[in-house]
Amino acid sequence: MSRETDAPRVVVLGAGLTGLAAARRLCAEGAEVTVLEKEPGPGGLASTCAENGFRFDHGPHRFHTQEDWILERVRDLLPDELMQLERKSRIRLLDRYFRYPLSFGDVLRRMPLSQGAAMVFSYMAEKLGNIVAPRKEESFEDWVVKRFGHKLYDLYFRPYTAKLWGFAPHQLSVDWASQRITVPSLSGLLRETLLPSSGKIRSLVSTFHYPRRGIGRIAEVLAERVGDMGGAIHYRTVPRRITGGQGSFVIHTAGEQLRADRVVSTIPLPEYVRLLGDVLPEGLERSAEQLLYRAVVFVALRVDAEIPVEDHWIYASEDRYLFNRISFPENFDPGMSPEGGFQAVFEFSCQENDDLWNGDRRLVEAAVTGGERLGLLRADEVIDHTISRQAHAYPIYRKGYSDPLSEVLRAMEELEGSVTCGRQGLFRYNNMDHSIEMGEYAAMETLGRGSVGERFDWSKDTWADG
Ligand SMILES: Cc1cc2nc3c(=O)[nH]c(=O)nc-3n(C[C@H](O)[C@H](O)[C@H](O)COP(=O)(O)OP(=O)(O)OC[C@H]3O[C@@H](n4cnc5c(N)ncnc54)[C@H](O)[C@@H]3O)c2cc1C
Repeated sequence: MSRETDAPRVVVLGAGLTGLAAARRLCAEGAEVTVLEKEPGPGGLASTCAENGFRFDHGPHRFHTQEDWILERVRDLLPDELMQLERKSRIRLLDRYFRYPLSFGDVLRRMPLSQGAAMVFSYMAEKLGNIVAPRKEESFEDWVVKRFGHKLYDLYFRPYTAKLWGFAPHQLSVDWASQRITVPSLSGLLRETLLPSSGKIRSLVSTFHYPRRGIGRIAEVLAERVGDMGGAIHYRTVPRRITGGQGSFVIHTAGEQLRADRVVSTIPLPEYVRLLGDVLPEGLERSAEQLLYRAVVFVALRVDAEIPVEDHWIYASEDRYLFNRISFPENFDPGMSPEGGFQAVFEFSCQENDDLWNGDRRLVEAAVTGGERLGLLRADEVIDHTISRQAHAYPIYRKGYSDPLSEVLRAMEELEGSVTCGRQGLFRYNNMDHSIEMGEYAAMETLGRGSVGERFDWSKDTWADG
């Protein structure tokens, strides 16, 4: 407890949406709150990079939620800034565009006849084969082939997955696929193929919310609120270790030792386990080290030309492109750049500190040549670029990841006075709305009123698409 006021002293690790939502709620409930964040500003994955008046997000972010109260929270933060947009995105394959999400029927209609026929044949062969002897779903590859056939798997899912994750699809768990890929029924597929709609297909039109000047505005205003309510946020601050435990912690940073009755951690789970060291059971660090994250480098090219497409983003699945996606910030909000021209933001998946992570020049060249090949820009129109990195963009669901994860999360549950949560802290595919909600639940758990696990059972499937 605070020596003067009896208010619980809570240290929150990480000023992403989860940490900030927890901090805001804790401040509102009268706790004494200190947030430690390693970056110079708030927002984490949902931050907006700003340089010389140009702004871009770390990958396209669209805010959507099924919980009215979460939307109200965000509206309350940004009363005049929240826009409602209609998603526009496509997939580039075989030098032509396909709808996103990938639909078997659409691919079939647009693809060269011979490839289309091979796709149908392989799809039907897989379906018939499964009647005789159902394919076991032991990996991501099994899951996709069983539902789409080998041809579409080879054409799209295999190269895209290998590029995004750095692992072959047979090495990945089925969990990722079942959470993120929409599968058409056979009747839906036939209807879609035989009765192509000339206009927009309803199921593929989705609206979302987006703040003017970038997704990072949500975190920026949340951070202001935390400050207004008396919470402290220390940026560029990384804990070196955490001692104590069971409701009485000391967080050691380079400059000071902070005492806390409670800790809410939203930093990557392996890092939190490492910081706690001896506080946790022996061997847990080894289990936590098996939880790997995929990094992304974002290369934003500034192009002195009219923006050539209406898309918010375009997927580039094939091996010939080193990146997997390109987004267009000015199609979210023209105010993302000062005047004229546009930005194209290329996403390169990699591991932290590997050749791609460190390969600035190669990445910019790949973005320019790839952008040219896609007909999005000309090299002589590129006037500048910015590079930004996220080391923990995606948890990697390798086969066998769930045993060490369960072991670590079980141990964390036993640690009194500590809550680990958020996309990094639970190693799960949170969206932004889940992160905000999780932060609120974490705050209440910290105050002894309920638990994150009541709403977000980490032992069950997740549901995200971000
Ligand atoms: C490319 C991409 C696209 C996405 N698109 C969408 C989308 O369209 N819609 C959607 O809803 N969601 C989307 N998401 C997901 C969304 O970004 C996340 O769910 C959300 O931002 C996670 O918030 P968080 O606070 O849990 O984690 P983070 O944002 O990762 O926050 C963790 C914070 O901890 C800090 N930190 C890490 N280590 C330390 C340390 N040792 N000490 C101190 N601080 C530390 C980090 O700097 C960071 O600020 C997307 C994610 C990615 C990667």
